[in-house]
Amino acid sequence: MKIAGVKGMNDVLPAEVARWQEMERVAREVFALYGYREVRTPVVEPAQLFARGVGEATDIVNKEMYVFEDKGEELLALRPEGTAGTVRAFIEHGAYVEGPQKWFYLGPMFRRERPQKGRYRQFHQIGCEAFGIAEPFLDAEQIALLADYFARLGVVATLKLNSVGDASCRPAYLAKLKAYLVGRKAELCPDCNERIERNPLRVLDCKVEACQPVLNAAPKLLEELCDGCRAHLDQVKAGLDALGVAYRVDGRLVRGLDYYVRTAYEFTSDALGSQSAVAGGGRYDRLVETLGGPPTPGIGFALGEERLAMILEKAGRAPPATGPAVFFVSADAEGAMEALRRAAELRKAGVACDLDPRGGKMKAQFKQAERVGARWALVLGGEEVRSGQGKLKDVKTREEKAVALGELVELLRRSASSGPASTFRAPGPWVAIYSARTSAPVDTPRRREGKS
Ligand code: AMP
Repeated sequence: MKIAGVKGMNDVLPAEVARWQEMERVAREVFALYGYREVRTPVVEPAQLFARGVGEATDIVNKEMYVFEDKGEELLALRPEGTAGTVRAFIEHGAYVEGPQKWFYLGPMFRRERPQKGRYRQFHQIGCEAFGIAEPFLDAEQIALLADYFARLGVVATLKLNSVGDASCRPAYLAKLKAYLVGRKAELCPDCNERIERNPLRVLDCKVEACQPVLNAAPKLLEELCDGCRAHLDQVKAGLDALGVAYRVDGRLVRGLDYYVRTAYEFTSDALGSQSAVAGGGRYDRLVETLGGPPTPGIGFALGEERLAMILEKAGRAPPATGPAVFFVSADAEGAMEALRRAAELRKAGVACDLDPRGGKMKAQFKQAERVGARWALVLGGEEVRSGQGKLKDVKTREEKAVALGELVELLRRSASSGPASTFRAPGPWVAIYSARTSAPVDTPRRREGKS
């Protein structure tokens, strides 16, 4: 009996994993350039963490979370998102005593949603969280990081920006919004109706065509922001302008989670269809406190790896090649033994190579070389063993070049190291930049070098 995988949870097969590794490698590189360091937290957390940290009124907690009882002890949940666990770790380890921190994570998240294209029950997120800084330039820098990341991958994504207000302006707005929505109840879809009481801001996020006229005419939070929130948004915009990041202010952009204040942003791509968001983030200045830590402002985002992979695939971007440098083709028993020895020698020197231990027809072995994506094929038989000479055959172009077997390691090691060099650097910025003013300045910060 065959057992199928769980609905909405996908296998990523080796050919596709190369693309994922590339997305993650570039993320690590870019995040290090901005001073973000990786944190790894468990996939399972107390269910209570998400109820408190994400909000009981959200669909994520209310309807979609995988919750189970741990042998009658505690209610646990598969994490539906990465921020709550990261914040828990931040608090639990007292990381706040060291001052501002920039962390990132990546890994699987779980939501029991209705599976469809771009929406799965297990999916993967890459996310950044910055703690301890309330100033709007941090928001601009984090958004620029994401724009930088997409640019390096060659992905075109549109940035939408909004402010969702804070405790001083949002409550009055919510009351107004709710009154408006209640009055237009009959024109709204069942989902909207359900959200009016529970999470009225989320109603603005509805994509149902028939709801759009009502929602477009709804009171706008952007027009009711308090002075603090207005100034914050203006500074984020000024920061983005200074960094050359294009954005569109969208008053209807909201985040589904309760803890967001002020800055909300989202990157979308036309390549994605109806689930067009590839990344979303925002400021959560009250979250650390909500989860029992000292008042600590924060801002973060999460991007969906499945969706990013879809964009890259649609753009015709082939995953990076992962084949070995050389595939040994044995012509006879003597050649097979020589191939075994040469392969061990190459691998010891860090050069990827392969061979087919079954031997067999040379034509089939060449086919195999092609299938595994080898750059070269090298025929070895008694003749080559005795002369110490062989021919490297380019698997794609079929061109040949003579090679002394004794020089194989040197030759292949050189050609392997001339491939795309990693720009990886150890975490921790090389230069810390200080600005002369403490409130986020709009002008160019004065720079001086120093220890971070
Ligand atoms: P969220 O945590 O809901 O703010 O989502 C952040 C990003 O994660 C989205 O922009 C998507 O790219 C991705 N994402 C969220 N939910 C899913 C899902 N069910 N399946 C695939 N990707 C998702």
